[in-house]
Amino acid sequence: MNGTAVIRAHCGVSKLVKIEVLEKDERNLRLLIRDADVPYVNALRRIVISEVPSMAIDEVVVLENSSVLQDEIISHRLGLVPLTTDLDTYTLPEECECKSEFGCNLCRVTLMLDAESKEGVKTVYSGSLTSENPSIAPVSERIPIVKLGKEQRLRLEAYARLGKGRNHAKWQPVSMCAYKYYPKIEINAKKCDACGKCVDVCAKKVLTKSENKVQVKDVLECTLCQDCVEACPQQPQAITAGWEQNTFIFSLESSGALPPERIMEEAVKIMDSQLKELESQIKVKKSEED
Ligand SMILES: [Zn+2]
Repeated sequence: MNGTAVIRAHCGVSKLVKIEVLEKDERNLRLLIRDADVPYVNALRRIVISEVPSMAIDEVVVLENSSVLQDEIISHRLGLVPLTTDLDTYTLPEECECKSEFGCNLCRVTLMLDAESKEGVKTVYSGSLTSENPSIAPVSERIPIVKLGKEQRLRLEAYARLGKGRNHAKWQPVSMCAYKYYPKIEINAKKCDACGKCVDVCAKKVLTKSENKVQVKDVLECTLCQDCVEACPQQPQAITAGWEQNTFIFSLESSGALPPERIMEEAVKIMDSQLKELESQIKVKKSEED
C-alpha cells in the first residue's frame, strides 16, 4: 500500500501520485498523498463513501414482537448495526448468478435473534444476533436494539446482503472519510518577537514556544483556521498558515466492516474500472461517429 504502484494505472505515465501511510490501526488510516489534485482525491473520497460495498441487514421477518417498539423501528435499528464483511466470498445480489429475489448462500446471510425477559427490564444488544456464518457478525456486541419489559419477547430472522452507500447509508463501510490540504506554516523569524499569542490561541496545539522562538510542533494537526495569524500583533503578521498545492492528508475511519486498507484498495479498484468503462464508452461513441 505504501508507495506509488497502486495508483499508477489511473494517472498515466506523465503523472504519478505518491502515497505515504502516516497512521494506521485496526480502524483508522491516514495517508499523505502527493502530486494529486482535488478532483482526484475527492473522487476517491466519494467512491469510499458510496461505492465500496459492505454487509448490512436489509430484510427482517419478525416472528414475535411483544416489545413496545414497532417492527419497523426494530428493523431500521438492525439495518444500522455494522456487520463484519467478507468481500471475497459474497457478491452483490444484483451481480449474483442466482438471479433470485430471495438470494442464495453467496449473496445473503441469515441472522437469528431470540430474546425474552423472564423478569425485570432487559436490554437486547446486537450480541444476541446469531449468524449462520461467523465471519458475518455484528462488529460490536454492545449496540442496544430494544428494551424488553417483563414477559416480553422478540424473535426474528434477519437477512443481510452486500450493498453500496449510494443506496443507503447503512452500507457505508466508513464512519468518516475526508481530506484536507497539507498545511504549510511559516514564521518570519525576523519579525516574530516570540510573544506567544499564536501558541496560546491555537486549539490544536500546533505551535510551541521554546528558547524565545515560536516553532511548529505538529503541522498535521493544523486545520488552517487562521486563528494564529489573526492573533499575531505584528503588522503585517509574522506568521502565515497556508497549504501546499497538490498535497493532501486523506483520512478514513472504518465502521469495522472491513479493514481500512482494504476499503482503500477496493476504492482504487472501483475507480480503475469506472475509468476503463468511461474510456470504452468514449471509444464506442467515436466509432459511431466515424
Ligand atoms: Zn445469489
